[in-house]
Amino acid sequence: MKIPEKVRIGYMDYDVIQTENNLCLEGRECLGIIHYEDAKIELNTNRNIQKQQQAFLHEVVHGIVRDRGIEWGENNELYTDEIAKGIYCLIRDNPEIFKECE
Ligand SMILES: [Zn+2]
Repeated sequence: MKIPEKVRIGYMDYDVIQTENNLCLEGRECLGIIHYEDAKIELNTNRNIQKQQQAFLHEVVHGIVRDRGIEWGENNELYTDEIAKGIYCLIRDNPEIFKECE
């Protein structure tokens, strides 16, 4: 799975920016950050490709959750991460999942 340069989530088109710079959110180092107001997803490239893909999907799930108006409260990060890992495995284990629909 190649990480795209843009991703549309709901009515927003996000630019996906890959960077070697360390990313920090609320004092913690992280692999990705989604900036809703700037329509931008930053991803750190200093990890292996699987980690980058998972980080990308994690930020996409954040975008979907926001777009759909879901409130996960204090479990937001946990749920986001678990759903992202589930989607990652789904794509990895079923690479042809929508092929026959085309
Ligand atoms: Zn997160």
